[in-house]
Order: sequence, then C-alpha cells, then structure tokens
Amino acid sequence: MGAGKMSTTIMEKDLLSSCVHCGFCLEACPTYALTGDENNSPRGRLRLWREESEGKIAPDPWTDFYTSECIGCLACEPVCPANVQYGNILEHTRHAHVQTNRFKPKLQLRVAALAVRYPKLFNLAMAPARALRSLGFFPHPLIFKGQPHVTESSASYARRLMESQKPTGPRVALLVGCLMEAMFREINFATIRVLIDNNIQVVVPEDQGCCGAFQEHTGLDGVESLRDKNQKAFGQLDVEAVVANSAGCGLALRKTLHGIQPVRDVLEYLGEVGIKARKPAASGARVYVDLPCHLIHGQRSSGIPASVLNATGYLWELAPCAKDCCGSGGIYNIQKPENAREILAKKSAFLNEAEGAPVILATSNHVCMMQWNSAHSLVERPFQVRHVIQLLDPEQKS
Ligand code: SF4
Ligand code: SF4
Repeated sequence: MGAGKMSTTIMEKDLLSSCVHCGFCLEACPTYALTGDENNSPRGRLRLWREESEGKIAPDPWTDFYTSECIGCLACEPVCPANVQYGNILEHTRHAHVQTNRFKPKLQLRVAALAVRYPKLFNLAMAPARALRSLGFFPHPLIFKGQPHVTESSASYARRLMESQKPTGPRVALLVGCLMEAMFREINFATIRVLIDNNIQVVVPEDQGCCGAFQEHTGLDGVESLRDKNQKAFGQLDVEAVVANSAGCGLALRKTLHGIQPVRDVLEYLGEVGIKARKPAASGARVYVDLPCHLIHGQRSSGIPASVLNATGYLWELAPCAKDCCGSGGIYNIQKPENAREILAKKSAFLNEAEGAPVILATSNHVCMMQWNSAHSLVERPFQVRHVIQLLDPEQKS
C-alpha cells in the first residue's frame, strides 16, 4: 500500500506505537549529530508524530519543521531493536504534510517531480544539458564530469551491444532511472558494457519509468502510478533479476517489485556471479569508496563487495566514515542546502590529506555523486568523483 493510501488508523496503531523510546537510534542520526536537539532525532520526530496523531498536541509549525529536517537516510532503521519502520512512517508523513499544505517542496523539485513522470519528454528536455556535459561544461556544483551520449538511449545501446557481443550467460533487466538516463547516461552505458563484458545478457525495457524515489523524498503525488508503470514494464520479464546502478532507485524499485521480481544492486549482483578483473591501474591513483545510505541502510546490504572493488584494478580503501550520510538524501541538498553542506564538510575533510594521484571518490548512487561533486568547493585539492561501475568499464580511460 502506498503512502497516499495508507490510513491514519494503521499509522497510529501499527507503526507509530512501535517505538519503545530506547534512544539507540540517536547516535546514528546525522541531524541529531548536527543539532543535539532531541526533536531533530528519530525518537523525537516519532514522538511528535505520535502525540499529534493521538490528539495530545495540535499540528504546529515546529512539527512541520522537524519533519522537513529529516534527511531520509534511514540510518535509524538498522540500529532499532524494535524494528520501527521509520522510512514508511516518514514517507506517509511527508505525503500528508504536502497534501495539507504544511510543507511545500521547493519549486525546482516540484517541477522536476512532474517532469520525471514523462520520461520521453524529460529526456528530450534534458538533451541540451547532456550536450553541455558532453562538451565539458558543468554549469552547477552538483553536476559532475562525464560524457553522456546525447541522442542514443540506453535501451538502444544495450540492443546494439547485445547484437554485436552475443553474451550467453544469465539475463537481467536494467533500471535506467529518470535523472540517470536524462543527465548521467554514460553511467548506464558503462553498466551495460560491464554486464555484457561479463557474459551477462541485458534487456532495457523501453516502457519503464521513474522509480518513484523522487516522489517519496518530496512527499509529492504520483508514486502509485509510477509503481504501476514499472510493475507492468518489469513484472512479466523472463530475467534472473532486475538490476539497478543507483542505490536510491534500487530501493524504490524493490518496494515496487516486491514479490514480483528480485531487484539487485548491480555491484552486489556482479559480486555474486563473479566478475573479470581489470588490469591493475598503472598510476598512483587511489580510490576512496563511500557507501550510499540507501544501499546499506535502505537495502540492508553489507556494502559494495570487496571482490568487485578488487576487480577495478585500483588500490582502494573505504573512505573514513563511509557508512555515514553525505547529506544528499536524494533531494535534501536542494531542499536544505545549508544542513547538507555542513554534513558534507565534515565527511569530505579527509580528502585534503588523502594519498594518491589522482584521488578518486567512488560510490554507487548518482545523487551521492552529485553531493560529493559539490565538495570541490570545500576541499582544497583536486579529486575525481566516479561511480564504481565506471571503474570496471572495459572502455574506461584511466
Ligand atoms: S531505536 Fe527504535 S525503538 Fe529505540 S527510540 Fe529509536 S526508533 Fe524508537
Ligand atoms: S532518516 Fe536519517 S536523518 Fe531522518 S531520523 Fe533517521 S537517521 Fe535521522
């Protein structure tokens, strides 16, 4: 049942009352770490929502404020002994706050949330931005370097490569994502190359849509229809798994395809089926690996498999605080840029002293990559931002 349809009664009785107030989640919460304010913690927010639902407190702007302060990183979920479904409660609450005008996402987020519901139009509208990136122009601090194909879609590219390479191994479907396909398409292309190079057959359904994570993060309408669309696009396919190269999109698709198709993070999947090692990187490059919250907390993954990171051929290590949130939160760095920047400033400080030439910050979620790219104005030395799948790409230029 989606956020929009979940009744208040179920929320009150089954979800909100599950918190036993132990406080184990406080230490995990980045907004509590930032402010030291109990109301800005998972326990504090849950108390505010519960007391409001029980009529003990009236809806007020402070509850709205503390709700909007949550990043949605889900770090509070795995540490909770009572198994409180914080993410579900947050999704419902955000949606209810938007519906009742208690919270209004920023204009650019509202426009983007509407646009991603029409992927073909969105891709067309973003073609000039893709072209600028391809030419080496990066007009915003969140836009990282890369050269996406401006006209060919990932679906067409996958078909072409399948025809020329003819892999014979297991068959997977790829979620291309809305922003990933419209703006950062080179990561989808790299994903297709890596899978096919490892003898895995790839299908990219043309009728797939946005995973719905954008609507979940903002509380805006539309998540149900997006889920319906992807159930139709992926549900009947004869594949071993649907793979995602973005941790946040993968988490959203897992919910959509629960009980219908297995959804796997592409790096985890490659770790399981085995992956060809690339030649050792010749230079003194050093890769620092950051782990997306929606991979380790949302999908409860143990991380990016060491076998996959070893296969990149780079000398790598986990970034300090790799399991802590970078402040991206899907849209948090746009909705609450000051908080997001403060969180990133602490997390990225290690790069100033990091060894390697070049220094590469690698992760597996494009929105985390965007957030890390904005650290160029915080860190005093050059560094590159890459997706781990790009480090495995047979066409990679080191
Ligand atoms: S860890 Fe779970 S039960 Fe304990 S306070 Fe936090 S949300 Fe409530
Ligand atoms: S989702 Fe993240 S920011 Fe929000 S309460 Fe949980 S740990 Fe804190």
